[in-house]
Amino acid sequence: MTPFERALRERIQADGPLTVEAYMEACNNYYYATRDPLGTGGDFTTAPEISQMFGEMVGATLAASWQAAGSPADAIYVELGPGRGTLSADALRVLVAAGFDGEAHLVETSPLLREAQAAAVPRAHWHDALGDLPDRPWLLIANEFLDALPIRQRVGGAERHVIIAGGGLAFDRDGEIIEESPVREKVVTDLSAHLARRGGVALTVDYGHARTAPGDTLQAVRGHRFAPILDKPGEQDLTSHVDFEAIARAAAKAGSSVTPLVTQGEWLNRLGIGARAAALAGANPDRSADLAAAVQRLTGKKEMGDLFKVLAIHCPDWPQPAGFA
Ligand code: SAH
Repeated sequence: MTPFERALRERIQADGPLTVEAYMEACNNYYYATRDPLGTGGDFTTAPEISQMFGEMVGATLAASWQAAGSPADAIYVELGPGRGTLSADALRVLVAAGFDGEAHLVETSPLLREAQAAAVPRAHWHDALGDLPDRPWLLIANEFLDALPIRQRVGGAERHVIIAGGGLAFDRDGEIIEESPVREKVVTDLSAHLARRGGVALTVDYGHARTAPGDTLQAVRGHRFAPILDKPGEQDLTSHVDFEAIARAAAKAGSSVTPLVTQGEWLNRLGIGARAAALAGANPDRSADLAAAVQRLTGKKEMGDLFKVLAIHCPDWPQPAGFA
């Protein structure tokens, strides 16, 4: 048993059953603080790690919105949960080429991942939470960030907990599960209130569903495979599917405008990922096959294309960002 699991069990023995929300929070804090989980040697791979084209499409969308809003000089680039900083580096390259000269602000709790991000974006500024960001217009991206925030689960109206039973960790109840994520909704509410008041746009990209529905979507991934949720606490990535209806509702309630929800495949195709791949292949013919494979992974219906969705939230005074209509 790892020292982290021992501490978790002692906590349950001392304080009683742990809510799924508290369990997920404790496990993920430990998990992200102690490793770089990305890439072939890690537990999972994300869109920006598959190809530079993903971050470039994000950068192009943010740049077009910024220009359409009159290129405000005080705007800043913001990323929530930037992983290795790959997406930031790719998006900022496009933003800078479009004339953006603003600062880069990264919200990241893991000291280890901050180091990786510093290598990719040396001029960045770091923050522990959204509330610490400067009061300026934001050009914000959150890719596979909301899914990592803790959720609550309820069965028959009662909150679901993690307990110790039969010498191991177990859930205290089973049945039809209703999920909600007050932490996730607070992040969306706070960022949407900021965009409405101060200007800017936020792109959220994640796996999830368009309508609120019952169901257990909590999942654990380790070594690129699904694993039992309560196995190896703190050693595997715990996420859940994002309820985009709840996100859109929170954003609108806070005064921001919300785009239609589109699939990642649809969005990237509308933004011209095919043309970008062709241009890159023209300049590097030996990379043609890799580029075609990357486009397929990012947009293919059986790959990331349909499972992942994109929702943009923007200041009502800013036009709707590209790729949603
Ligand atoms: N966006 C990156 C990484 C996704 S992994 C990519 O697409 O490759 C999730 C990221 O969110 C990691 O960087 C993790 O450390 C960070 N993270 C998780 N919970 C967080 C929290 N509560 N506050 C800030 N960052 C968090």
